[in-house]
Amino acid sequence: MKCTDMEKQLEDLKQQLEKQCFINKELQRQNKDLEIRLQEKERLLQQLQSQDSEFPGHSGNEVQEFRKSRAAVIAPEPIAETLEISSTRVKKNATETSLIVKAIQKNDFLKRLDDEQTTMMVELLVLFKFKPGEEVIKEGSEGDSMYIVAAGELQVTQAGQDLRTLTTGDVFGELAILYNCKRTATVKAKSSVRLWCMERQTYRTIITNKSKKKREQILGFLKTARTLKDLNDVQLSKIIDSMEEVKYQDKAVIVREGTEGNAFYIILKGEVLVTKNVSGHQKQIRRMGKGEHFGEQALIREMLRTATCTADGPVTCFSIDKEVFEETIPIEQLELFDDSKVMQQDAEVPEKSSPSSTLRFKDLVPVMYQEGRYQGDPVTLGVGGFGRVQLMTTLNYGKYYAMKQVSKKQIVVKRQEEHMLFEKKILKAIQCDFIVRLHATFKDTRYIYMVMEFCGGGEVWTKLKEVGRFDEPIAVFCTACVVEAYVYLHKKNIMYRDLKPENLMLDMKGYAKLVDFGFAKELNRGDKTYSFVGTPEYMAPEIIKNQGHDFAVDFWSLGILIFELLAGSPPFSSSEPQKIYAKILDGVLKYPPYLGEAAKSIISKLCRPRPGQRLGNTKNGIKDIRNHRWFSSMNWHKLRVGQLEAPTVRLVRKGPAYINFDRFAQDQTKAEEEFSGWDKDF
Ligand code: ATP
Ligand code: MG
Repeated sequence: MKCTDMEKQLEDLKQQLEKQCFINKELQRQNKDLEIRLQEKERLLQQLQSQDSEFPGHSGNEVQEFRKSRAAVIAPEPIAETLEISSTRVKKNATETSLIVKAIQKNDFLKRLDDEQTTMMVELLVLFKFKPGEEVIKEGSEGDSMYIVAAGELQVTQAGQDLRTLTTGDVFGELAILYNCKRTATVKAKSSVRLWCMERQTYRTIITNKSKKKREQILGFLKTARTLKDLNDVQLSKIIDSMEEVKYQDKAVIVREGTEGNAFYIILKGEVLVTKNVSGHQKQIRRMGKGEHFGEQALIREMLRTATCTADGPVTCFSIDKEVFEETIPIEQLELFDDSKVMQQDAEVPEKSSPSSTLRFKDLVPVMYQEGRYQGDPVTLGVGGFGRVQLMTTLNYGKYYAMKQVSKKQIVVKRQEEHMLFEKKILKAIQCDFIVRLHATFKDTRYIYMVMEFCGGGEVWTKLKEVGRFDEPIAVFCTACVVEAYVYLHKKNIMYRDLKPENLMLDMKGYAKLVDFGFAKELNRGDKTYSFVGTPEYMAPEIIKNQGHDFAVDFWSLGILIFELLAGSPPFSSSEPQKIYAKILDGVLKYPPYLGEAAKSIISKLCRPRPGQRLGNTKNGIKDIRNHRWFSSMNWHKLRVGQLEAPTVRLVRKGPAYINFDRFAQDQTKAEEEFSGWDKDF
């Protein structure tokens, strides 16, 4: 063979090899992708199979019911303003304290509470005695207390089957200190038993009042800082939301003379020595204690520290970085700043004239299934916690409505009167294309009825479950709709508080709308509310910790939503609620490998643990969210006026009006009558 031939053959071979190599790599990549998807599917399956259990390590083996969507939770009782710790404190000796502290440290959820909350818990626990055979917790009942075993043995059973034995130092029923969860197992004393017990009512009241007092106190401290004298309470409150607690050991240097200053500190606990270098020696200038602050100049000027501050004994400070401070308050106009102006610039949603409210109840007729198992029965679009939603139309046809029918008795039983009235009040007043319209309300002796705009595209949740996870353009679009809804609501000082794919519905154009305003609440800027509400996977850490919350919880849940839309399941999830809460308090976000860089960035900025640092809640408000690069392809104006073609439209099926919904059997039972009159304004 000639040399050039050989060269040519060699070159051919080389090319073939390279090609093969490339194909191999591609196959490997696809394999990996498939593997990841498989793992995800498996995880999802596991999640669906295991039921909520308060008793780790066990997945229920009774008949499995497919959990369609995640239920929201709420602690309905009001918080007493006056309960003081002194009246409920129970003295404990060193051994008892140590046992309790160890038990708390061993518990996945409780160990994540703040030191203060743990201390409080130790002080509040009350001793109870049970005889052998006595029942402490009954499966299916509503929980109101948590327990730590001081001595003795108890048996845990579920549906008549033994699960495990509890003994000294074990914690059980801890979820009940957050809200009135259903007990998932029965616990009975095997021997004589002594239990440390704490009621939710006591715990929440004390923690809430403590959090409130602490905020007021810090507000007082901040007001003594000269640099901040031009700020109003709303702004100071925002600063508090951005500040973080930092602990120092004895002799730790907090700021050092001559170094660049970049943070401001308030002393919450302990004492700090201030010293200055005078001809080579540290000279003590003064000593500072609780409520005093240092480093405020660093917030507004480039300057070097003029003294050294050292912890004298253990010290706890509340601190804010210059960078974070600048995000919170525009320092260049410290005197001019007005929070409300920023909010106004944000919302330019054109308001439509009020919808026709001439709809009469007797004009509404139910739409029937046209084929299938339920042919001839009225169409049910969904079943919620308190009733069902039916597809209706008017006698002269042409227009569809979704009518939510709620049992008045159920509302009273579950103490949801206030929420129901507020849901109606809010929805009636709202005119926003990204929020479901309420056209009319009616009532009779058994039900109240809310006639809403029909969102024919179905739930975003259903679509998400159908395809596993959304492509980026679809996720961007859905989220953008929520952002617009938030702009509208927050401008009206309304927090939504229950964002999740289950509460997002598509219209026939593929535009997403918020439904279900059961948890929405009006709140003055700068105020906090202390209720425990939301859906576990979407709850912000400050709600779980009872620290008081505000509009910032909506931005947290927005981050969770983006994650869930892109990944198919939320970042903090478990079949056991207390594990979800533990993960949220840890705050570690693990992103699946296929998530883009911009998506990861916006999620991590929305899901910052400190509410004051969250995207959307810093000085530029919601604008920062709109301007984030994850939304770079979004034409916000076109979206607002409904001229943007929705990528979601390909998820919406065409056919009979109910085609995008699950089918439900007719409900023949009638709700009990209810005459207490709570609904007189409905
Ligand atoms: P829960 O509080 O348990 O979530 P709920 O009783 O408040 O439930 P909704 O969540 O408002 O009820 O509605 C229940 C279901 O009905 C929804 O998940 C959805 O499938 C359907 N639905 C609600 N509103 C509409 C609407 N406007 N158009 C079409 N379907 C709707
Ligand atoms: Mg709902």
